[in-house]
Amino acid sequence: RTIYLDGAFVPAADARVSVMDRGFLFADGIYEVSAVLDGRLVDNDAHLARLDRSLAAIGIANPHAPEAWARLQAELVRRNGLAEGVVYIQVTRGAAERDFGYGPDLVPTVVMFTQPKTIVGAPVQASGARVVTRPDLRWARRDIKSVGLLAQVMAKREAAAAGAAEVFMVEDGFITEGGSSTVFVVTAAGALVTRPLSHAVLPGITRLAVMRLAAEAGLALDERAIAVDEAVAAREVFFTSASNFVVPVVAIDGSDIGDGRPGPHARRLMALYVALARAEAED
Ligand code: PLP
Repeated sequence: RTIYLDGAFVPAADARVSVMDRGFLFADGIYEVSAVLDGRLVDNDAHLARLDRSLAAIGIANPHAPEAWARLQAELVRRNGLAEGVVYIQVTRGAAERDFGYGPDLVPTVVMFTQPKTIVGAPVQASGARVVTRPDLRWARRDIKSVGLLAQVMAKREAAAAGAAEVFMVEDGFITEGGSSTVFVVTAAGALVTRPLSHAVLPGITRLAVMRLAAEAGLALDERAIAVDEAVAAREVFFTSASNFVVPVVAIDGSDIGDGRPGPHARRLMALYVALARAEAED
């Protein structure tokens, strides 16, 4: 496959980064993930805006304007013949002698690659996901999409060992978010609830799109923290992410959600989101 590295499209075997890269030594970098559907990027402007925001938060100059990023992403998708999957972008502060401080001449390392993945019609859409809860062990700026993902790696290792597809991370009895997703519950009255944005969670791009679709569909929305007990007792639970869109949850910590089958709200919002992504691609 073809990788984008520092200004060039190269075969994967030739894509080499220095061991002195601060991404490798300090996790001093940012990433972003956009979905590709029918060969077209989904809601990509919003992902590029978040990339810019994450870079600004850690003081790395954005190496490209959004239009330039989008051209590079599209070219990478084309070169890899990607129809459905994701484009991964990573920008680190660059390579230098290992020290916390760094000079003014550091050049950011820019890596992009594609990953094929079935999103629409993925088996988890029909089966629903079983999830487990774990303590949220992450740092205090989860709104920054940092490549430092050790807490998620640990939580997802435990989830996988428990046969769960995702982990819901918990702080003070409330769900912050999924290991790599935003959590929604549907109340008995049919309202959609998700946690408000703050430093405690990543501002999910799919979250925002789904909230807009839900509002258009006439659903009530409530942004507040969700207790684990509330989620377990909810009529419906689902999670959202760029790489999965909308995934119904059928069990939390072994307790069935609703009747233990994917719920109608998740199914409907998934269909609306896919339709929106396809309509956007036609523009
Ligand atoms: N929260 C976390 C911690 C994530 O890692 C992700 C995506 O990977 C999300 C939420 C969902 O964000 P998005 O919908 O922008 O993919």
